[in-house]
Amino acid sequence: MDTTKIINEKEIMELLEKGKKYSKNEILNIIEKSRDCFGITFEEAAALLQIEDDELLEKMFDAARYIKEKIYGNRIVVFAPLYTSNECTNNCLYCGFRSANKELHRRTLSADEVVKEAKAIEAQGHKRILMVCGEDERKTDIEHIVNSVKAVYENVDIRRINVNSAPMTVEDFKKLKKVGIGTYQIFQETYHRETYKKMHPSGSKSDYDWRLTALDRAFEAGIDDLGIGVLLGLYDYKFDVLATLIHSDYLDNKYHVGPHTISIPRLRPAFNSALSEVPYPVSDHDLKKIVAVYRIAVPYTGIILSTRESAKLRDELLELGVSQISAGSKTNPGGYEEDDSEATQFETSDERSVDEVIRVAVNQGHLPSFCTACYRAKRTGEAFMELAKDAHIHEFCHPNAILTFKEYLLDHASTQTKDEGEKLIERELNKIVDRKIKDETIQRLERIEKGERDLYF
Ligand code: SAM
Ligand code: SF4
Repeated sequence: MDTTKIINEKEIMELLEKGKKYSKNEILNIIEKSRDCFGITFEEAAALLQIEDDELLEKMFDAARYIKEKIYGNRIVVFAPLYTSNECTNNCLYCGFRSANKELHRRTLSADEVVKEAKAIEAQGHKRILMVCGEDERKTDIEHIVNSVKAVYENVDIRRINVNSAPMTVEDFKKLKKVGIGTYQIFQETYHRETYKKMHPSGSKSDYDWRLTALDRAFEAGIDDLGIGVLLGLYDYKFDVLATLIHSDYLDNKYHVGPHTISIPRLRPAFNSALSEVPYPVSDHDLKKIVAVYRIAVPYTGIILSTRESAKLRDELLELGVSQISAGSKTNPGGYEEDDSEATQFETSDERSVDEVIRVAVNQGHLPSFCTACYRAKRTGEAFMELAKDAHIHEFCHPNAILTFKEYLLDHASTQTKDEGEKLIERELNKIVDRKIKDETIQRLERIEKGERDLYF
């Protein structure tokens, strides 16, 4: 099938209409069935997205929590964004970087400056970066992205770099693949064509289909670790969440690998945004529902949450199914060195330090993970999904989370976080059932204590 045809708006509207007609009992059945972790149909997702009854919502949240625990255990992967440039020739109405924002302090980092930022991020304890790029052919072209990635890998103990950038040609994606990125991430923003057109009035981003087909080109170039999402608030979230699931399913059928992650960015105020209000507001309550539906519908797909959301809500969303969070983030190029509110893409909400985020997560019983092993051990794409679906991935991820968390505690944590973290590690070790893996993990923890780093399964 031609990718540009996968989103049929009429069909999505019909699914939502059918979803509305489900009885309470039918919805309870879907929720019950979802606990098998096989996912659900689009129509069933449409029904769950429209639950308003509190009792049913609670049941759905319970199922989402159960699936999260079953597949991911209590691990939470932690990362930080690194903005390489805020120069942009597009004019996305919602974004601080849009070309019409003449007051924005524009800046494109040199390779040395990117390295400085990465070092500042690493100093907070991160090992995983999401490189975020503007879109200006003259300044932030593929060479700039590739050089930035290379410079960080060569000079900083950052072990995985994911990239969020404009769509590119297969040739350019090959360059990205060659430099060893983790996930390539791109948000469709909205799958609703008319809204897309309104929100992206000029520049190359106004081409909906070029964006929609980006992941096919990435795949053709050999990148099998892909991230998708919509910018919540631009259009009816029910439509866009269903469309995201349809896109995900399409990729899964076509390439035998669904997206590795789905992000849930919600529209934030941005410096000189052209939008005076959020076109389709998404409440906190809606966002919880969205996370639960994604968790139930695509149990093996990671869900990424950024610091766009408040500390309190983030803590709740972790329980419901989020598997990766950013922490201590800045959204302007050079932001870890120097804050400049007139250079940022949007306002963040969770302003806590990495240490604070980690401590709260630990107190809630989560195990923070700085693991980057899978893609370095070539467990990506189909290979990753097979392991994940057999639940074997647990055997690697859990001890790897413990080992990388130990590094964090030794190298970066405050005394309080360290005390609480060490207790958590003790509890986590007791959960490892396989005797050999447990012994090996204990030995490796001792080696880390003695100064070795980057030990993984
Ligand atoms: N420039 C590239 C692009 O647009 O695809 C890549 C990076 S862009 C800086 C990353 C994402 O930020 C966008 O895909 C969009 O979803 C999100 N974003 C833009 N403005 C935002 C805002 N005001 N609030 C929240 N997220 C926003
Ligand atoms: Fe540019 Fe991306 Fe912002 Fe659009 S969302 S203005 S393409 S940086």
